[in-house]
Amino acid sequence: MEIVEYLEKNQQIPFQIFKNALLKKKFFHAYLLSGTTGTPLLDIAKFLAKSMLCQNGNPFCCNKCNICKRVDSNHYGDLEIIDGSKGSILKEEITNLIETFSLTSTEKQGYKIYIINLIENMNVESTNALLKFLEEPPENTYAILTTLNKFRILPTILSRCEIINFSLLNQKKLIEDSLKEKVPLDDAELLSFFYNDPQYIKDISISEEYKESKEDLLLLLNNASNKKEIRFITESQIIPKLKKKEEIRYFLDNMVIFFKESLKFKVNKNTILTSYVNILKDIIKNVSNLDSVILSLMNARNELNYNVNVSLLLLETLTSIFEV
Ligand SMILES: [Zn+2]
Repeated sequence: MEIVEYLEKNQQIPFQIFKNALLKKKFFHAYLLSGTTGTPLLDIAKFLAKSMLCQNGNPFCCNKCNICKRVDSNHYGDLEIIDGSKGSILKEEITNLIETFSLTSTEKQGYKIYIINLIENMNVESTNALLKFLEEPPENTYAILTTLNKFRILPTILSRCEIINFSLLNQKKLIEDSLKEKVPLDDAELLSFFYNDPQYIKDISISEEYKESKEDLLLLLNNASNKKEIRFITESQIIPKLKKKEEIRYFLDNMVIFFKESLKFKVNKNTILTSYVNILKDIIKNVSNLDSVILSLMNARNELNYNVNVSLLLLETLTSIFEV
């Protein structure tokens, strides 16, 4: 899979940050790409560097021009890569880098970029050498650093970087793995918001409590357009069943997920809940202010910590959401 597709599909936040920076041509002097094992950090770093350098960027690299091709074959003069995955990073490597970058550009294009992959593999001497360079970067010089262990990086380094976090959990992968465990797609999608283990998702998906609570939730959401039904369902189905605070919390958490996904779907036609797109569309059509609904659901969830009449709280929250 191309890096741009990987980012767009799996890493929405970094994708947007890169896109905005490239569109505006405004970059931080140092980026730290922080991820967990399995994140293609070096490839992402190269992709970002290439996109910054490419003259046909739209806003990402074209992969066809002379610059892109030279970056791919490691023949671009103003891009240096130090790869810490091959062993510890020595002070000489950093000082050589600094010397090279202090010279005038070898390329016509203005940016000089260096990538240091896995900076947790720098020793004290190389860290100190890099620190000085990060503090006073030469003009038009940019650093793209990566790490698989942000907690091993000195705060003095961290404070000089714009940190881009790559999400811990790949929800789509989790859903795929749950499908392999024979969990139905709709259950895998819904439960992927709550659990991060396919086997556990399978166990929950066949439990009676889960099935029942899902049924009630969908009964309510499927009637988003029918205001009369909302009050009836809330009073006759939801409230009598939800007695324990944990049950109500779980119910509200599910509601929050549906509304957040509706908002996401409204903005970029993208959702984890692909099995429930009709419900999301119904919510978008019938609920005017999704932001404030999400907030009021979260407030209601918070209220549960106090001594409140939970039935009344549920009735008020649900009817106000659907403006009954
Ligand atoms: Zn290009």
